[in-house]
This record gives sequence, C-alpha cells and structure tokens, in this order.
Amino acid sequence: MPRCPYCTSIKSSFLKESARHHCNTCNTHYSVMVGTPFHHTHVGLEKWFLLINLLINTDTQYSSRQVAKIINVNKNTACRMIKRINVALLNMDHRKLLSEIASYDR
Ligand SMILES: [Zn+2]
Repeated sequence: MPRCPYCTSIKSSFLKESARHHCNTCNTHYSVMVGTPFHHTHVGLEKWFLLINLLINTDTQYSSRQVAKIINVNKNTACRMIKRINVALLNMDHRKLLSEIASYDR
C-alpha cells in the first residue's frame, strides 16, 4: 500500500479511473505518480499499466521492439520504460505498487 503524502496513513483505496489514491484517513486524493517510476513521464498511464501487465503477469520475455508495438510507443521509449520498471521492481515499495496495478485488470 502506498503511503498518503499528507498524513502518512497507509489506509487508501485505489481509484482506477483517475489513477489516484483516496486516503481513507484524511479523505484527500493523491497521485500514485509521486515517488514512483511514472513521475515525470509524458507517456500515458494506460501505456505504463499495459507494460506493467506485460512484465508482471506474463512469463514471456518481450523485446523492446515487441513492447513498442504492443503499447504503441517508439522503440527507444519502450526501452526506457522497461528499464524504469525493472529498476522499480528492485524497490519493495514500488514492487508492491506495480503488482497492485497489475492485479487490477484481473
Ligand atoms: Zn491521508
């Protein structure tokens, strides 16, 4: 669970439509982007979510060229995105967030 940046509570609900969290303690909304691999990116969140699904929910090892085609970005962007996700997966908090995101479509 991500931590609320306002009151540090970890009780939150994920609002998939807006890709934000609703803090159940202080009743504010905050972006999942803050402090995550998606912060400062121009790629749409839906593409990140697609990529996360590809990387976490399948055993297939996708090349950056395949990823580029599937999520419709150019190959260099795909390459950078994969790198970011792989780095993020080394961080326990980020790993949790990513698996949370990956589990929403199931
Ligand atoms: Zn809060």
